[in-house]
Amino acid sequence: MSDIIQLLPDSIANQIAAGEVVQRPASAVKELLENSIDAGSTNIKLIVKEAGKSLIQVIDNGAGMSENDARMSFERHATSKLRKSEDLFSIRTMGFRGEALASIAAISQVELKTKQDEEELGTLLQIDGSELKKHEAVSCKTGTSICVKNLFYNVPARRNFLKSNPVELKHIIDEFVRIALANPDIHLSFMQNDLEVYNLPPGKLSHRIVNIFGKNYKEQLATCEENTSHINIRGYIGKPEFAKKTRGEQFFFANNRFIKSSYLNHAVLNAYEGLLPENHHPFYVLFIEIDPKHIDINVHPTKTEIKFEDERTMYAIIRSAVKQALGTHNITPTLDFEQ
Ligand code: ADP
Ligand code: MG
Repeated sequence: MSDIIQLLPDSIANQIAAGEVVQRPASAVKELLENSIDAGSTNIKLIVKEAGKSLIQVIDNGAGMSENDARMSFERHATSKLRKSEDLFSIRTMGFRGEALASIAAISQVELKTKQDEEELGTLLQIDGSELKKHEAVSCKTGTSICVKNLFYNVPARRNFLKSNPVELKHIIDEFVRIALANPDIHLSFMQNDLEVYNLPPGKLSHRIVNIFGKNYKEQLATCEENTSHINIRGYIGKPEFAKKTRGEQFFFANNRFIKSSYLNHAVLNAYEGLLPENHHPFYVLFIEIDPKHIDINVHPTKTEIKFEDERTMYAIIRSAVKQALGTHNITPTLDFEQ
């Protein structure tokens, strides 16, 4: 009898895990931007080349990392955001799994420069496919700059599976816009192939919406707000006459995290009942604030699906909030007196 079971080397384990965390360039963009937000940045620059296939760079002015932390940050399950299992039920940061940097570094060529305010010199690390290539002191600004080159260079099947540049770029724009809406107080810019895609100064949510979607959104927005003992809703909904045939401008955030929920989307549509032409979708950006212990964000690695403890109540509150917003702005269905 001989034993045949072995633990996988970290580099292989990381590559396998990477498949879950990084499906495409946009997933890496999301993870890097979220890290910059968690680091308390007020200014974040995103630079991509070839829709993120050849380069994704994120430069922030956040807290930066010490030399040891910079090394540790690429280890799997290494995080500064979660200490004990109870913390899982009170998560306020965007990250907590400690998987993103390890996964990204397993399938690309990464260069990290980072410095904390009190330090004279920062740290430069180069990692190719989980392998440390360079580690030295570097003179740089406080904050973190991370370059991710040639995503999936060592996973040809994955690289070939990527869609055309316009499609991959659209996914990146979607992630960027979600993060930009959730963080209007952060200066965010986005360059693709040396062209500016967005440059969003910090300000109020309404300004951010107008800066992203266009000036004509100014008169389209109605304020939406509802507070109960343990759930707060705030944000904007679009007036019914501006609803579009296409989807893509419907946003829910739970504790500032973008979520997808066809159930809650239904609650919004239900509130608009009778006000929309058939197959039209209203604009909305709605923020749900709820005690983290009443939600489970741990459902999926990319964390866009979450579970609410009491979905029905959430549905009722959203519907009522939207109905009220529509009512306050004097919008009622046109009654047909002919019948
Ligand atoms: P997570 O965000 O789940 O903790 P990551 O792999 O994304 O895991 O990052 C690991 C750790 O690296 C973070 O917990 C944080 O301490 C550090 N880190 C990553 N990016 C940055 C950044 N831009 N600025 C400061 N620290 C960072
Ligand atoms: Mg993270």
